[in-house]
Amino acid sequence: MRAAFVVGAMSLLGFGACEATPELLGTDTGVAGARGGKADRDEIPADWLRGIAATALVVDLEAMEATAQLRLDPADGGSCETGRGCVASFEAAGLDVREVLGPNGPLDYERREGDLHVVVGAADSLTVRYGFKQQDPSQGLGPAGSTSVWPTYCGNLFPCHSDPWDGTTFELTVVGVSEELTAIYPERITTETPAYTLAFATGKYECQVLGETRAGTEVSVCWVRKVGGGANGPRGKALRGTESLTAVFDWLEASLGAYAFGDEVASVSVDWGDGAVGGMEHHPFWHVSDSEIEEPLLHAHEAAHGWFGAGVRIACWEDLVLSEGTVSYLAARAIGAASGAEAEQQVWVDYAAELEAALVEEGDQAVLPATCGEVDVLEGLWGNVLYMKGAFFFRDYGDAVGHDVLVEALGAFYRERVGTAARTTELLEHLERATGADTEVFAAKWLTGLGNPLAAAPCDREPCATP
Ligand SMILES: [Zn+2]
Repeated sequence: MRAAFVVGAMSLLGFGACEATPELLGTDTGVAGARGGKADRDEIPADWLRGIAATALVVDLEAMEATAQLRLDPADGGSCETGRGCVASFEAAGLDVREVLGPNGPLDYERREGDLHVVVGAADSLTVRYGFKQQDPSQGLGPAGSTSVWPTYCGNLFPCHSDPWDGTTFELTVVGVSEELTAIYPERITTETPAYTLAFATGKYECQVLGETRAGTEVSVCWVRKVGGGANGPRGKALRGTESLTAVFDWLEASLGAYAFGDEVASVSVDWGDGAVGGMEHHPFWHVSDSEIEEPLLHAHEAAHGWFGAGVRIACWEDLVLSEGTVSYLAARAIGAASGAEAEQQVWVDYAAELEAALVEEGDQAVLPATCGEVDVLEGLWGNVLYMKGAFFFRDYGDAVGHDVLVEALGAFYRERVGTAARTTELLEHLERATGADTEVFAAKWLTGLGNPLAAAPCDREPCATP
């Protein structure tokens, strides 16, 4: 953990004054000195082990240019022993890098296959000035004005490490926003979190404060203004979907521990295009697709990511169940706490139907692979099978040890690990220590095994057997 990185005297005036020729993206461009000088040395070796501790961004939406100040974790040897000085590598596939500066002036850098390799020498911070461009809504700055870079697209918005293991704090300033629009984003995130947590959204936003939790967190919802529509317009839908959100957030805080992303939060409606659904855990102002803004469960789900996913982050993509399974379970429990046992029971009935459908549509899979960093998360892991099997793992285990005991154990894990990366196996070991009950039989059934355990009788609790 490190303190927030101060933007300091950085100025936007430097934009446009750069002499370096923009490099072609995604191609092997050879060595380019920061001032465009042609270097004739060997290529700069990659060093992906040098972590990013703090990321401070100033994004100019009018010029489509930005400045990133990055503070690095201390050097641990590695590339520092090559004779050229320490190197740090960053993902930057969608960026047109114009200039890379260290504390004492320009730094040598090189673009290879979209990545950015910089000779940082003895410095532990650098500034990258770059241009960026519009992307598909899920891969950067989308056409409707919101960003999303999960899982591995942060390099389309800022120099980064998409590997969730490497958490960073953030500072963000968005300028060049046209007058009729509002930009919603956190100015500061002081808890280390995955690169994909950061986002901003611009639009003709209106927000309403929904309430304040007992811990003093102000909970709001934001939607894009539209004339007409009445109760079925964006405002009416947003307010209906978030009726229980303050109570949900209050339960999460009271049950799990202090929220790590400030004292103001909001569900922000975003337009991801036709057919888009779901939400994204951009804490503290998480995004919910305008198509599902009426769904209380979705708001609860994204809110719960403040504790698992964004708060305690996953160490490997293979640990996705620590984020999505835990959160799917917690969202059901939070709905129960806010809206009653019947509402929670309906969530579980819906989850059962979702699991059944997902097994047909996506195909079955074990959702907790033993590897780390080997699975393509989008192709090989992500999907409702993982979300739902993860949720039912916790429900099943909670039925055995007591759900209050389980939630308390999850809270203790959160309080111990917030701001750090954790393996799912570490969580399971923690649960065993905290509750005294093995997770093995439950994990074999839901996380490492195949099939739909809900379909296997006997069962003493609905939802149960599926026809
Ligand atoms: Zn999620």
